[in-house]
Amino acid sequence: MPDTVLVVGAGPTGLSAAAGIAAVGKKVVLVEKENILGGAPIISGYARLVPSGEWAKDAIGRMVGRVEANPAVTIHKNAKVAQLDGEAGRFTATLTNGQTISAGAIILGTGFTHFDSINKPEWGFGTFEDVVTTTQVEQMVAAGRIACPSDGRVPERVAILLCVGSRDRQIGREWCSKICCTVSTNLAMEIKELSPKTDVFIYYMDIRTFGLYEDKFYWKSQEEFKTKFVKARIAEVTRAPDGRLLLKGEDTLVKRPIVIPMDLVVHAIGMDPNLENPQIAKVFGVGLERHGFLDRGEHYTNTFSSTRRGIYVGGAALGPEDIDSSISHGLAMALRAVGDLGALDHQAA
Ligand SMILES: Cc1cc2nc3c(=O)[nH]c(=O)nc-3n(C[C@H](O)[C@H](O)[C@H](O)COP(=O)(O)OP(=O)(O)OC[C@H]3O[C@@H](n4cnc5c(N)ncnc54)[C@H](O)[C@@H]3O)c2cc1C
Ligand code: SF4
Repeated sequence: MPDTVLVVGAGPTGLSAAAGIAAVGKKVVLVEKENILGGAPIISGYARLVPSGEWAKDAIGRMVGRVEANPAVTIHKNAKVAQLDGEAGRFTATLTNGQTISAGAIILGTGFTHFDSINKPEWGFGTFEDVVTTTQVEQMVAAGRIACPSDGRVPERVAILLCVGSRDRQIGREWCSKICCTVSTNLAMEIKELSPKTDVFIYYMDIRTFGLYEDKFYWKSQEEFKTKFVKARIAEVTRAPDGRLLLKGEDTLVKRPIVIPMDLVVHAIGMDPNLENPQIAKVFGVGLERHGFLDRGEHYTNTFSSTRRGIYVGGAALGPEDIDSSISHGLAMALRAVGDLGALDHQAA
């Protein structure tokens, strides 16, 4: 029986799984399709993470460094699994780089795809340069300056629109992306820190700063940083005669139409299923749930099982997820996979 676990995807989930497996003395082959490790927080250049406040490049960088320094982990970048043969305990994976890997178990940490705001054209992305996404603002914060892309001026008024590509049945995205309310309230504070004179408005359906994030982000953003929260339905973003952006919609608390000038409009984009999931499902022989995320086998006694024996799935591959939970999923999957190699006497996790 091979003493190796194949981990696919080197985001927070896959990095955590790889470190967990190596920590109990088993071998890992980590396969990542990009040429850098770290997943979305590194590839998309996130700034300070919620809830820790640590810079993504430091926090996730530590996770990358730990795996890279471990001789039990073999890393293949710019690679995917092209073909999978065998069964639980005896898988053979052929990589796109021509390598063949024997593995006793497989972990899928293949993550998500950011919602493409082009699919919400009425909110101006792709039409107006000063309509941007949260990932673009994260990159501005990381670079230390908030600016309107059209002319580089510091914005006087910034609107953050929540639930862009989430909770939107019209475009087939029924799920809540879970973390974007917290990320947005945090971004509002970061904008204010960089530019104290800028007014930041958050337009929302509901605020879902879940668990302990309520006071640390929602109330703090409102009370200490004066972020203005407006419960509204936004109909469209257009351009005013003076060249600024105009936000049009309805304030749903007072039930009145609103037309508000803004310098910068930010889409709080949600988490879509990985665009490659149909292909991943085919290669690995695992199922998809109805929205297109990878499916679970069973929740309670076969934890983090996919629909195929010996293959585990966790993190944002399963649905919108935050980093702390993704790291926990990775460790739980490491335990399951090592158990499959016969190293631990497990009945069920
Ligand atoms: C705008 C925004 C900001 C966010 N900020 C925070 C935050 O501050 N704090 C927080 O807790 N969460 C945050 N999140 C959520 C966070 O991004 C996810 O929780 C986290 O990235 C999930 O980790 P993952 O490893 O499951 O997936 P990913 O980060 O998506 O990593 C998946 C990895 O798998 C690779 N991959 C994909 N397909 C294949 C394949 N076929 N073969 C090989 N490799 C593959 C990808 O290239 C990637 O490296 C944010 C999300 C968004 C949208
Ligand atoms: S977390 Fe907030 S912004 Fe994100 S989808 Fe859920 S309600 Fe909308």
